[in-house]
Amino acid sequence: MNPAAVRFVLFEPTHPGNVGAAARAIKTMGFERLVLVNPATCQDPEARARASGALDVLEAASVYQDLAGAVADCGLVIGASARHRRLGIAELHPRDCARQVLEASVTGPVAIVFGTERSGLSNAELDLCHALVHIPAHPGYSSLNLAAAVQVIAWELRAAQEPGLDTPPPEAPPATVQDMELFYEHLERVLLASGFLDSANPRNLMRRLRRLFNRTRLDRNELNILRGVLAALAPGSGERAWDGRPNDAP
Ligand code: SAH
Repeated sequence: MNPAAVRFVLFEPTHPGNVGAAARAIKTMGFERLVLVNPATCQDPEARARASGALDVLEAASVYQDLAGAVADCGLVIGASARHRRLGIAELHPRDCARQVLEASVTGPVAIVFGTERSGLSNAELDLCHALVHIPAHPGYSSLNLAAAVQVIAWELRAAQEPGLDTPPPEAPPATVQDMELFYEHLERVLLASGFLDSANPRNLMRRLRRLFNRTRLDRNELNILRGVLAALAPGSGERAWDGRPNDAP
């Protein structure tokens, strides 16, 4: 986790008090990067009063004219939405959002974008988001105050770093690149032998399968199960590269 890489972006905030309160919310959770897109006002007495001990965060806030500029260098952009949206964008629970942000912050800047008080984020802003986060508040009234929403999300990011709340250690070490290469060779032999993969017309099949399996980030036990499945379906196909039964075969 790299807190300096996590950017809290307020899109067109209209109430200076909310901007100050958001600065305080992020500082109390160990963050420092506040970004304002087209704010109604920047340095306002009410914003300063509400920032309280987080004046440094408020004063260091960057200001952009549009959202595209504010998130241009980010590898992950998550939009906070008070409503469920049916737009084909993944909607994350704040806890899952926190995990993804923590992971991505190690490799580069990450943004969490909060909408304007009255109308939230419009489709044009959502177009720039990789995913949404929704705080599952009371379904009858789920729209939090802007700074309160920032506080909840920032808290989740902090909680995700606490050892007690961290994800438990994996049961098995991750499959290595070498393990995966042996698996792909085995899979390819079985697919060729079965006729499903036609060497005259491979249609990128192996590349697609690689993408599919690489996305799941298999651990060694899971990989061994798949090798076992291939060996069981096509006896003799795996002996060049595989030497045993799955670690946790039933
Ligand atoms: N009336 C607006 C809500 C604006 S509240 C609407 O219906 O969209 C201002 C911002 O606070 C929202 O755009 C969102 O970024 C954040 N927010 C408020 N409630 C939230 C919730 N339950 N989950 C996630 N973000 C929320």
